[in-house]
Amino acid sequence: MENVCPECRGTLRVKEKDGTVHPCYKCLSEGKMDQHDKNIKDASDYGIQL
Ligand SMILES: [Zn+2]
Repeated sequence: MENVCPECRGTLRVKEKDGTVHPCYKCLSEGKMDQHDKNIKDASDYGIQL
């Protein structure tokens, strides 16, 4: 079984019911988005408490 993120299914993006797309907070918290670390804010900047 691969370790695919259940929140974004490996896409690193999550689409909300209202259509809003945002970076996956779970992957952010796990440092999976390091290729964009210059542009991606820390998860706490989105108001998410990890
Ligand atoms: Zn994810």
